[in-house]
Amino acid sequence: MPKTEPIKAVRGVRDILPEERGLWRVAEQAAARVAHRFGYREIETPIIERRELIERGVGEDSDAATKELYRFEDRGGRQLALRPEATASVVRAYFEGGLNQGPQPARLYLMGPMFRYDRPQKGRYRQFFQFDIEAIGGSSPALDAEVIEVARAWLFEVGLKELTLELNTIGDSICRPAYLDLLRAYYRPFKSRLHSECQHRVEVNPLRLLDCKVPQCQPFKADAPRITDHLCEPCALAWKTVRQLLDAAGIEYHLNPYLVRGLDYYTRTVFEFYPAGSTGSQDALASGGRYDGLAAALSWESTPGVGFAGGLDRVTELMATEGEQVITEPAAEVIVLPDGDLVAEAAEVARLIRTVRSAAVDYEPRSLRAKMRAADKQQAKWAVLFSAENAKQHKVQLRDMRTGEQVEVSWPELPERLLPD
Ligand code: AMP
Repeated sequence: MPKTEPIKAVRGVRDILPEERGLWRVAEQAAARVAHRFGYREIETPIIERRELIERGVGEDSDAATKELYRFEDRGGRQLALRPEATASVVRAYFEGGLNQGPQPARLYLMGPMFRYDRPQKGRYRQFFQFDIEAIGGSSPALDAEVIEVARAWLFEVGLKELTLELNTIGDSICRPAYLDLLRAYYRPFKSRLHSECQHRVEVNPLRLLDCKVPQCQPFKADAPRITDHLCEPCALAWKTVRQLLDAAGIEYHLNPYLVRGLDYYTRTVFEFYPAGSTGSQDALASGGRYDGLAAALSWESTPGVGFAGGLDRVTELMATEGEQVITEPAAEVIVLPDGDLVAEAAEVARLIRTVRSAAVDYEPRSLRAKMRAADKQQAKWAVLFSAENAKQHKVQLRDMRTGEQVEVSWPELPERLLPD
């Protein structure tokens, strides 16, 4: 038989090994704790959705839909996609699950994997994980401030306190069209000096000209009209209220007129959290905003909503570099080491120990010495050794791996001897 290559993981995705998983759990538990503290309840939605939902949710013309979407046809010929973000799914579930009939707004959170067929690089994966918060069915600007506070509280809780909050508004369907005309008119004379994608954006999606990172497009931004000078009255009031509420909460922010979203259903508040001192090229830790047009874009009843998505991959990477203690998954505290073929007896001894502590059995056919070495490597606190002779008398040798002290103990005594202090 020809030797074939061992099968490896798919490009752009990765394993989170037990050594790292503990840190992830800290981030996830903090997310759940903070979400609950603000009255948000957990929801799970499927990883697969109808392609239409996702394409309308991320915008059919956007990069995320055209290039980055994992799409496929199932065996029944259904057009499906792996979710690239959670908001469209959560909004769908809000209606399908009748949450729109309950108290409003519905405060929901979700944690799970998202999929984007992006070019993999450090910090950017094709499967990555988000903590997602959505407040659906409320239009109060206080909710915008609230979700910002939730995001910040989560990042604080995992020890990331040196943050920059970038904030902007992008108006709504009342005031934005006129502003976009102004922006187009401003950019048209410079069109030939913009990079090719931006040339296209002038007519199609002028708001995205503002967050372009390509050097040749930068000089035109400073004099571009700003939407904050062209808001309708309700948007201007909401914008003022959000800032006042953030001020009252002691949350510092940086007004960034170039922070935008390219899709029509996004309205008013947009925000992003970055590690303090990061350059603009770095990716955000969390980003969010209001999407009052999304429900209608999905053909549900028009319903306002606001939320954010935080990236668990980035957050845990930063936690690790900020010196957050490495928290590995604990291995068994007690290792049961039968000397010889004493499988049933070893299993029984382990079962007794598990009433008080975690225990695993070394079933490998190797010498007791080799088993001891393995137990040591696993940093077990105790080893429980026994021979066939011991087993007959229902006895074991209980060894404290730290001190090397060893005492003979009867099986029924074991749980008591191993009681956690
Ligand atoms: P977005 O849904 O694009 O606004 O992203 C929200 C957050 O998810 C970002 O701030 C990142 O932390 C994280 N994120 C987005 N895309 C990726 C990716 N490809 N790999 C890892 N994290 C990501």
